[in-house]
Amino acid sequence: MTTNAELIERDLSVLWHPCTQMSDHEWLPLLPIRRGEGVWLEDFDGNRYIDTLSSWWVNLFGHANPRINRALKTQMEELEHVILAGCGHEPAVALAEKLRETTPPGLDRCFYADNGSAAVEVAIKMSYHYWRNRNQEDRRKFVTLSNSYHGETLGALAVGNVDLYKATYGPLLMDVLTAPSPDCFEREEGESWEEYSRRMFRPMAELLEQEHEQVSAVIVEPLVQCAGGMRMYHPVYLKLLREACDHYGIHLIADEIAVGFGRTGSLFACGQADITPDFMCLSKGLTGGYLPMSAVMMTEEIYQGFYDRYENLTAFLHSHSYTGNPLACSVALETLAIFEDEDVIERNRAKAERIAQAFAPLADHPNVGEVRQHGMILAAEMMKDPKTREPYPWQERRGLHVYRHALKHEALMRPLGHVFYFMPPYVISDEQIEHCARVAMEGIDRATAA
Ligand code: PMP
Repeated sequence: MTTNAELIERDLSVLWHPCTQMSDHEWLPLLPIRRGEGVWLEDFDGNRYIDTLSSWWVNLFGHANPRINRALKTQMEELEHVILAGCGHEPAVALAEKLRETTPPGLDRCFYADNGSAAVEVAIKMSYHYWRNRNQEDRRKFVTLSNSYHGETLGALAVGNVDLYKATYGPLLMDVLTAPSPDCFEREEGESWEEYSRRMFRPMAELLEQEHEQVSAVIVEPLVQCAGGMRMYHPVYLKLLREACDHYGIHLIADEIAVGFGRTGSLFACGQADITPDFMCLSKGLTGGYLPMSAVMMTEEIYQGFYDRYENLTAFLHSHSYTGNPLACSVALETLAIFEDEDVIERNRAKAERIAQAFAPLADHPNVGEVRQHGMILAAEMMKDPKTREPYPWQERRGLHVYRHALKHEALMRPLGHVFYFMPPYVISDEQIEHCARVAMEGIDRATAA
């Protein structure tokens, strides 16, 4: 039987891990995972951990979910993959139909890609290309929010705004226009989320008024800026933004890659603002956390903007080899079927309530500046002095104390800098939520003690 130590040694001699300064693993042990079941991950020495971050926000219904496993095995026997240019297959069609039915009304066309960043690339290329096909080539700028994150490929990175990931590659990236985020952490004392998000729409309105003639699209993460530290805002901002985009005839791209599929309490975050974007990017939870896949949903109007004789060279000649992979489509279909059969959104309401109660004591912690929540995402901001809003210097990496403490107590937690967050698979039990809350509070005590 392989042990943790053996796998770690082999791993570090050959792998380069994502989003990691590899030298950290000289003192911070890698966690080798042998198997998963439900919310649990198990290492090679037999230790178990609750996956409180849903494996980078992808897992919805647990690891080795029996229903999804069955769907995958069944599909595997029929067709594992086929080129999607010129060919079609049942799972790709059925999933597109299902997405058309479940996403906000008007998103009637589906284009597949194979990860979140690729979906963002598709949406921004398609938006620009649409205007070009309409002889409005000057519309080539994208408007983004401060602190936003849309992926790591060069286009996605350009429309993102988290310096930690972006600054190094600045010289390689296209210029974008940036409006301040409506992130409610910055609101004044006594100001409601709604008031603040409304107030923060003003700079966006001014930017659009000045620049609209050269703007192709505005791209946002609806309701929660996840990689930017789980910063949250009120749905009213999305409503106002939709109205402004309509007024100027600008596309609105909703990046629901992290917040889609029930994370914020509704199936899609845009639903809470009752809006339909022109493009909606989906990935992560789309396959229940099983396989890499993404989809961009768009309006028929966008689709028609490309529909012409070949000789006119208006076609969207963008492709990825694994576009519409049948295995991924079939697990996505099963994931969506679970939502329907098991009344997931309604059950998550009670679960979100439980999460709020379990973590409520954190709000009184002397080094916690805010505990915030949108549905199945809860976050707590560790701060040196919440009264003066003084953050801890980032170099102190206090979140790692939470990470290490949690590992000793059967939980995998991975704060984003000094922001602790809890974003578990939906199948987590009430007892497990309470256990995680206890572990997190102890971890935060340790992290903020020094
Ligand atoms: N957009 C958002 C909002 C995300 O959170 C992420 C991933 N964290 C991405 C895009 C990129 O997705 P991927 O990692 O699959 O490329």
